[in-house]
Amino acid sequence: MINSFKRTLASNLKNIVGWTTNRKIIVFSVDDYGNIRIASQKARMNLGKSGFSIDSNRFERYDGLENANDLTALFDALNSVKDKNGRSAVFTPFANCANIDFEAVKKNNYDKYRYELLPITLDKLEGYHGTWNLWREGINHKLFIPQFHGREHLNIKLFNELISKKDTHLLACLENECFTGLPLNYSKLVPFNEAYSFHSFEENVELSEILTEGLYEFEKVFGYRAENFNAPGAYEHSILEKTMSTNGIKFIDSIVVKKEHQGNGIYENKFRYMGKQNKYNQRYLIRNCVFEPNLVNSKDSIARCLKEIETAFFWKKPAIIGSHRVNFTGIIEEKNRKLGINALTELLKEIVKKWPDIEFMAANELGNLISLKNKHNEF
Ligand SMILES: [Zn+2]
Repeated sequence: MINSFKRTLASNLKNIVGWTTNRKIIVFSVDDYGNIRIASQKARMNLGKSGFSIDSNRFERYDGLENANDLTALFDALNSVKDKNGRSAVFTPFANCANIDFEAVKKNNYDKYRYELLPITLDKLEGYHGTWNLWREGINHKLFIPQFHGREHLNIKLFNELISKKDTHLLACLENECFTGLPLNYSKLVPFNEAYSFHSFEENVELSEILTEGLYEFEKVFGYRAENFNAPGAYEHSILEKTMSTNGIKFIDSIVVKKEHQGNGIYENKFRYMGKQNKYNQRYLIRNCVFEPNLVNSKDSIARCLKEIETAFFWKKPAIIGSHRVNFTGIIEEKNRKLGINALTELLKEIVKKWPDIEFMAANELGNLISLKNKHNEF
């Protein structure tokens, strides 16, 4: 009861300030596409035998790289509804365009981090036939409009420190072609999967170079510049906004009160709202709804999400639904994909029934609309 009251209050507070519209706009911003976390059920079992806790959370249980079956099922679900303009629902996958080049790292005797681009990985991996073609098809049909979630979903400095020490956990991961479940106590400030987290502020110089290169690689992979950024772990410092701006990023995902690390464990709160502009004319997009069907009971996740959409529309805000690939991937457990896709199909059905004037948009399309409408009316 108290939890549900707190949730309702938080959901309202997220929506009070910022850009408004009478249009009923739905965006799905879904993190982690393209990232190899767990290679296979067999690899996961091997990690279990090496002492990894493979059941500690849903990412350790299910989060395998999406394959052709996953994308086909996802596109079918998105195509199962149409908005008032006849457009299907659309996902904005916040994608990583590179992964560890496991082969090269091994061949070079585990010397340092090396990466390869997503289409090459998909071409090499068993069980991924046709997957890259489906990405292309999804993009061409505007069902799947990738934006930037970092070049890779890992912290390179930490990776290189661990590999130079021949850390047994990291080596076990690399041997199984995974990158998951490393102990978080290597460093409280820099969890293994947070690409833009740091200890000391000066590390941002190197992070800026990684960001620039990542945005260039993104264009090489997807054929266009990314406009929208959400960092893996979302703990990047705003000092990087200049680099983002120089390299084409116009929109940055955020939460309303962002606890920003200043270095050495000191934090500052940054207040953001839908459409807020920074000094580089970039705008913040607030994820004001959540859809994580494999985190809670899937019926509850649908009901909660519908309630949050209703709250967003009450405050005349677009509904930006945050989610993760782990809900819609089936390579580790097919039943996980089925649960997620069924829940998504149900959610979409309810959305178009409840709001016949709904409009589905990609996150960057919404960002461009906000920029357009605010040209002469800044707040
Ligand atoms: Zn992520």
